[in-house]
Amino acid sequence: MHQQPLIQSFGPNFKSMAALPTLKSFIDVSSDSDFPIQNLPYGVFSDPKNTKPRIGVAIGDWILDLSVIADAGFFETIHPQVTSWFHQASLNVFMAQGPLQWQAVRKHLLTLLSEDCPKLRDASSLRQTAFVAQQQARYYLPFNTKNYTDFYSGIHHAENVGRLFRDKNNPLLPNYRHIPVAYHGRASSLVISGTPIRRPMGQFMPQDHDMPQFGPSQRLDFELELGTVIGTGNLLGEPIAIDDANTHIFGFVLVNDWSARDIQQWEYVPLGPFLGKSFATTLSPWVVTQEALAPFQIPAPQMTPPPLPYLVAKHDFAYDIQLQVSLITRESSKKYTISHTNTQALYWTQAQQIAHHTSNGCNLETGDLLASGTISGETPGSDGSLLEMTANGKEPLVLSQHEQRCFLEDGDTVIFEAFCKKPDFPRMGFGVAAGTVIPATIRGTHDKS
Ligand code: CA
Repeated sequence: MHQQPLIQSFGPNFKSMAALPTLKSFIDVSSDSDFPIQNLPYGVFSDPKNTKPRIGVAIGDWILDLSVIADAGFFETIHPQVTSWFHQASLNVFMAQGPLQWQAVRKHLLTLLSEDCPKLRDASSLRQTAFVAQQQARYYLPFNTKNYTDFYSGIHHAENVGRLFRDKNNPLLPNYRHIPVAYHGRASSLVISGTPIRRPMGQFMPQDHDMPQFGPSQRLDFELELGTVIGTGNLLGEPIAIDDANTHIFGFVLVNDWSARDIQQWEYVPLGPFLGKSFATTLSPWVVTQEALAPFQIPAPQMTPPPLPYLVAKHDFAYDIQLQVSLITRESSKKYTISHTNTQALYWTQAQQIAHHTSNGCNLETGDLLASGTISGETPGSDGSLLEMTANGKEPLVLSQHEQRCFLEDGDTVIFEAFCKKPDFPRMGFGVAAGTVIPATIRGTHDKS
């Protein structure tokens, strides 16, 4: 498999993180791209010339096919089995190697793609097969998830929902500032961006009725969330201490936790969300690594009251990631951007979520997904769901003179995007998590309404 021993000396090794902000690739990357050399997110893709799903990293408008450069011997110094890590239809084998190997591969890629390293830059025939245009690629779920947990860590979302359904003056439940609240979601219905979302059928209690109905959800919504991807897990019965929690995180994706509000509202007492959530959850195709996001760490939020000691880290941090939600309707090709928000609205950090999740001995596993909870800001125009934007359908969102929305209609496409920006550092983004609502399949129902 190894055509030539390319890696004896590896050119100007990328050694210093201090050089990262100004590092440039021999691949042209426009300044508004999500994928400068500093990012290098991992995904699973195929293309018309090679329909086998495999692992690549995004750079500019291209994908570097890691299976090709692994076959060419570019990673031989890292690990004897490295080639097999990237000839996979999921990232799980690579993620299970742990943080030292993730760092080694990233450091290698930073060097290999940099403008002054000739190894790949000058290998013109290899470059023909090693780079695939993103436009030609088909994407797959980047990791296999056995268990998906959905947190509720967006404090302004929790307050907004509390104001809508409970107590205007005291919207948070008593546990909110003590526990990173969550429920166990459904991993089987995770789908990759672009997958159509079929409007769910379900049971709900229409307003002013005294008997429930079964039919297509009338209140289909989205939830804007950041997903944490678990790289390495823990053994059953052995909790992850909060100060070790971040070493278990491989990276992050965008998550749309599609929600049928009418089904959810009727079913959720007393055990929490069930069929109002489990019909589909959309993920973005690129996993942005924890290492790539390190320059965008910010201090963790001040917590009042202080949490219990098992949730207090020596050095915890949050992220400054800007997020936006856009809508394209069936009637108009215009992209309406309907929300701008930021991950700073998360009250609990990823480390706290992991420490709490495993505190009872529950085992996390490679590929598990922890969604953040809906991320809403404090100000108008920063909500992460239509439920909040429209006050549960009472105040329609005006898109144009001709169009407004209370909840999603068939043919609507919801697009999530996210990026990080700061002075003296290239913009970095997540790509998109998008899905189009298609009509419900009405069969086997006895609904006569
Ligand atoms: Ca959610």
